[in-house]
Amino acid sequence: MPRQVITTDIVIIGAGIAGLWLHHRLNKLGFHALLLENKSIGNAQTLSSQGIIHGGAKYALNGILSNATQAIGTMPARWQACLQGQGDVDLTQAKVLAKHQLLWSKQQLASKMVSFFASKALSGRMQTVAKSDRPALFQHRKFKGALYQLDEPVLDIPSVLEAIAKPWQDRILQPPNNANITWQKTGEHINAVQMGDEFEIQAQQFVFTAGQGNQTLLDSLNIKTPKMQLRPLQMVLCKAKDEQHALPAIYAHSLGSGSKPIATITSHFDTNGNTVWYIGGNIAEQGVGKSLAEISQEAQDLLHAILPWFELPELEWSSHNVNRAEPKQSALSRPDTAFVESNNNVHIAWPTKLALAPDLSDKLIEALTNNDLKAGKHSEQHALPTAQFGKTLWDQAFK
Ligand code: FAD
Repeated sequence: MPRQVITTDIVIIGAGIAGLWLHHRLNKLGFHALLLENKSIGNAQTLSSQGIIHGGAKYALNGILSNATQAIGTMPARWQACLQGQGDVDLTQAKVLAKHQLLWSKQQLASKMVSFFASKALSGRMQTVAKSDRPALFQHRKFKGALYQLDEPVLDIPSVLEAIAKPWQDRILQPPNNANITWQKTGEHINAVQMGDEFEIQAQQFVFTAGQGNQTLLDSLNIKTPKMQLRPLQMVLCKAKDEQHALPAIYAHSLGSGSKPIATITSHFDTNGNTVWYIGGNIAEQGVGKSLAEISQEAQDLLHAILPWFELPELEWSSHNVNRAEPKQSALSRPDTAFVESNNNVHIAWPTKLALAPDLSDKLIEALTNNDLKAGKHSEQHALPTAQFGKTLWDQAFK
């Protein structure tokens, strides 16, 4: 069979939040962009995320306003504009799980921390919550600690993916299973990506937003930098065995004495409407390689320790192993900002946070347009199927 040749302006590889956001914006700007996804839309880090649109407060828990805090500080407002239909992506149909996140400490905070949290630098990002405004879980007379509200919404990621992908889903394509990816080049300039013997897609420019898959793509082109790092997590999930005693929905960081939250809990809903607590933070970072029995016992002990006044219902447990894929840093530290590096007409990108996807798309659009991108006319006729949406963890994890 002769190879089918498809043409487009830009090929983007990887349909997580990074690829989808860029793809949506480029098509809306009048370019023709094709997004290739070899599994399902959002399946990797994006559908594993907690959906928190960080504004950086979490990175200020050491009392210092770091680069990370400043870079990410504008993101909640950017997403809010999209949620109101006034941003670069229309998210009016996406579900908001919580308008704010909470940060609680079992004990009163040291006065130095209280003044820092109340300082001008953090104003607008966090406020103390008056006793009368506390959610039920923190109304208990035995809770004598501190409670702050962070100006960071938590979003239902499947609905976000649907809102971003749907308008352009016919340009989100699934290459044939296990097709070997090769490249057609003139010198260092890439002309086309070939998928097995069947398909060739010609484009002016290529963008890699394949998360962990970026390394394989870089290797296939023999590009030596940037290098990738993987930071693994074992996230913990639990839900009440009896739906009649469902866990309360909370979206909160538990603060100990360290500079990272002991635990970050977000709440999601399985198809029966039962609340699933999805727990990250230290427990997930230090839980890599532990058995389910071990990590769920630790998580149960942790919940007793951080919510001592709350009587937990009988719980069902699960866990989820996933890597964070990022540009390599010294000592495997967390990168501060969205990352883009260009190599001729190939642009390699990691958002490093879901919240930074809008910022990443700005950087990529700048890199693409600086590289003489032109809007061309292209046929929509081809034999590649469209990619389907990935499944959520809330049902999958307990099977
Ligand atoms: P991914 O979501 O990993 O997507 C990459 C896509 O590329 C996948 O769909 C994959 O199938 C596809 N792919 C790979 N190779 C190929 C190939 N050769 N051809 C075609 N397709 C390919 N950030 C926040 O801001 N807030 C949070 O609350 C938050 N929580 C997190 C919780 C966890 C447990 C983890 C792991 C991360 C969290 N993050 C959070 C970080 C955030 O999820 C990631 O930074 C973001 O989702 C990365 O998006 P991405 O599009 O780069 O990658």
